[in-house]
Amino acid sequence: MKEQFSQLKHIFETKQSFVITTHVNPDADAIGSEVALASFLHNKGKQVKIVNQSETPDHLIFLTKIFPVETYSSHLDHHILKADCFIVIDTNSPKRFSAFADIVQKSKAYKVCIDHHLEHDQFADLYIIDTEVPAASELLYRILVYVDNTSITKPIADALYAGIMTDTGSFKFPKTDSETHTITADLLARGVNPYEIYQEIFENGAINKLHLLGKALESIEMHDNGKISAMVLPRSVFSETNSSEADVDNFTNYVLSIKGVIVGLVFVELSDGVKVSFRSKGDISVNTLAKQFNGGGHKNAAGARIKGLLLREAVNLVIEKTKLMLR
Ligand code: 5GP
Ligand code: MN
Repeated sequence: MKEQFSQLKHIFETKQSFVITTHVNPDADAIGSEVALASFLHNKGKQVKIVNQSETPDHLIFLTKIFPVETYSSHLDHHILKADCFIVIDTNSPKRFSAFADIVQKSKAYKVCIDHHLEHDQFADLYIIDTEVPAASELLYRILVYVDNTSITKPIADALYAGIMTDTGSFKFPKTDSETHTITADLLARGVNPYEIYQEIFENGAINKLHLLGKALESIEMHDNGKISAMVLPRSVFSETNSSEADVDNFTNYVLSIKGVIVGLVFVELSDGVKVSFRSKGDISVNTLAKQFNGGGHKNAAGARIKGLLLREAVNLVIEKTKLMLR
């Protein structure tokens, strides 16, 4: 890994203009690591733009005060094509920023992928991937410390903390280790106020999201003698509660909260298909399950988008495949 770090340091020193992106429906790890990296490079006198496929969800807008985030539209193509270096963070697949993946493919920029997911696609010149870290932000912290330990300012520390806190499920998911806590301690020493970040992310919601959660909890079905739970959200629940897909943020915690459940599923009907979130306990790998539907992720948390099936068809099919896997 040290060799890749050194290579990236060289890229930071020799390239002048950077475009940074992440996956669709970005979470706090995605936006947090983008703004931390952008701010770091900007402070080094670099030209930086963050361009994302999706808009930033409301509860993460505070992070864009650290560094602005733009939503992709084709008028940005010339800018993307001009950049010396393109950095993808918190995903390892162009399918996850498909709206402008072809423009990136066309560009002659040096391409870097910084990520913590399994099984990367071939698209970058440099991969810095550690699938053992709980958050891309934790990996980025290590990179920034390596490149210039003195450059992690308070806003950069805030952004990294937001990513680590959320991607570890507030320091409880299996990959959280002593290293995570050591890094977090250092971020606090640099001025991060944990309650401030917690408030921004978790105490700033709209009532509509709770109404959506109510309907979502009622929808939970049990399958395979209680080993599988499934939350099923048709589009109608969003209009009924005046909420959106982006509000389905960490509902996955609830499907796993049930005693005896080893695989929890969340289905969201999209305008053009069905989004499935897979979660598991212990040694069960849902990454392999998600891959059967062209998705991916981690061992205990993965996702996929299924096209061409109605919601109920997708639910039945995924539950069938899950049962087969558990057999
Ligand atoms: P979530 O269910 O929270 O959207 O995602 C869980 C994990 O699976 C995340 O690490 C995410 O990157 C990955 N993931 C979610 N959706 C997809 C998808 O459509 N394709 C791939 N390859 N990974 C996904
Ligand atoms: Mn992440």
